[in-house]
Amino acid sequence: MTTQSSYSIAIHGGAGNDRQQSAREARIEDSLLSILTQGRAMLDDGAAALDTVVHCTRLLEDDPLYNAGYGAVPNCAGRFELEASVMDGRTLKAGAVTNVDNIRNPVDLARRIMDETAHIMLAGQGAADFAAANGLASVSQTYFQEGWRKHATTDKDTYGTVGAVARDRHGNLAAATSTGGQAGKLPGRVGDSPLIGAGNSADNEGCAVSCTGWGEDFMRTALAAQVCFLISRQGLDAHAAAHAAIEYLVAKVNGNGGFILVDRIGNIATAASSASLRCAWIEQGGEIKTALQASIRIARAAS
Ligand code: ASP
Repeated sequence: MTTQSSYSIAIHGGAGNDRQQSAREARIEDSLLSILTQGRAMLDDGAAALDTVVHCTRLLEDDPLYNAGYGAVPNCAGRFELEASVMDGRTLKAGAVTNVDNIRNPVDLARRIMDETAHIMLAGQGAADFAAANGLASVSQTYFQEGWRKHATTDKDTYGTVGAVARDRHGNLAAATSTGGQAGKLPGRVGDSPLIGAGNSADNEGCAVSCTGWGEDFMRTALAAQVCFLISRQGLDAHAAAHAAIEYLVAKVNGNGGFILVDRIGNIATAASSASLRCAWIEQGGEIKTALQASIRIARAAS
């Protein structure tokens, strides 16, 4: 049994192919630092992991530096279709939304679906109707066009899915993930980010994990569920589970991407096969750390 008083949190701003420290990366680092500072204040005050990951993900969605919410990237028809999910590790309840084009903060809608319905995921018009009935802020495509213009002036590689994982002072875990999906995706395409067990998962007995990268790779390997299972049922620690899972992703599908996780005792691990994974974290109430790359990296075969 670990101390009930410590908390841990990690957030990410997406996997990418760039390796260089650039002006953009410096801006991302500042943004992650400021958002994580808010997450820390909440957890320090005794807030629930679930409330904290939703809050941090909402802030990430509102920053055009990322491919989520305001800064989401367009599909091949030039439209913005967003996705998000949230999972509570205490109850295994989850909420998710896909193919929404007028919701300012998809993570809030995912949370509302989790809290207010017997379902996990709503899509498209049904999701939009539910959001309107529940008073969630709606925006037009112009809002996303404006955010995308800001995003595109600083980012050529269009990555930047976001996510947050946390363990609160009570030992409860939660995870949230939000994205605009792959740049130029087909209209209607669903990625891993809203899929529980693929791009997002949380279980108090295992870990909370948020993934980013080529979504189809994470869907084919059910990667988020695997990471949780390695800890909860196979007894691996955070580092060993992260290593085993990223190795599996590469070995099975030459997968491209990475993830952040916090395990049941508050240890954090970051792993990726992509060149970069922008992230920041606090382990066991300690100092804020930021990184452009995951601490565990497994190289993909050249494709
Ligand atoms: N995983 C996201 C998707 O495939 C994209 C990303 O993380 O960059 O929709």
